[in-house]
Amino acid sequence: MRQEFFVSRGTLFVISAPSGTGKTTILKRVMAEVPGLSFSVSHTTRAPRAGEENGVDYHFVDAGRFAAMREAGAFLEWAEVHGNFYGTSLEAVEAGLAGGTDIVLDIDVQGCRQVRAAAPDAVTLFIVPPSWEELERRLAGRGTDAADTVRLRLANARREMADADRYDFVVVNDDLERAVAAVKAVVVAERCRHRRDAVGLPLAIPRP
Ligand code: ADP
Ligand code: 5GP
Repeated sequence: MRQEFFVSRGTLFVISAPSGTGKTTILKRVMAEVPGLSFSVSHTTRAPRAGEENGVDYHFVDAGRFAAMREAGAFLEWAEVHGNFYGTSLEAVEAGLAGGTDIVLDIDVQGCRQVRAAAPDAVTLFIVPPSWEELERRLAGRGTDAADTVRLRLANARREMADADRYDFVVVNDDLERAVAAVKAVVVAERCRHRRDAVGLPLAIPRP
């Protein structure tokens, strides 16, 4: 409704979680059920999993292409996660926000730190598993990763959990319905925030 009066800048939502927590599952539901949200498709050097589609889940690129994009300053943020490179297209995010679209980034804790520096008004949300045992069960049960990949992701989860305190919101993914409802509530509440557009500044990327 507010767009009848003026096109306000979109809100940047950042969602992180240790691998296997259920972030992708939750986000697919939230994207389908909340109108006006656009998912930022990252670039990655990781190989596609069964069922993943190029351009939908990720833009799958080789290491050379990723490095060229990084050197050209094409990423709002980028990081090496679990042995692969991942990055968010600056141009796509900026175009969406400038056009008034709310953008969702599914990125790791290192990426979120970079986004906080570039866009202090970003809304950050961390999803946690109900327990370590359940995280291990979900990672193994997903059946998409080799045993050594699961071990690496579990080891990294301990480090990632240490960043939870830096996020604006924390949601526990115990019951899926409850977690989906909580993430949707955050989006809806942020859209109602008074004078949010007053702080919506263009992204400022610190250059080395
Ligand atoms: P992530 O994107 O965080 O790595 P996924 O969305 O791929 O995690 O979920 C990991 C596994 O856990 C999947 O098999 C998914 O179906 C399952 N899962 C997700 N949420 C729940 C939940 N609340 N309860 C039980 N299993 C879940
Ligand atoms: P997966 O390989 O399971 O899809 O993702 C592994 C991790 O990489 C997840 O924590 C996910 O949020 C993160 N990730 C995905 N895309 C990006 C990105 O563009 N930048 C950063 N920093 N992390 C990402």
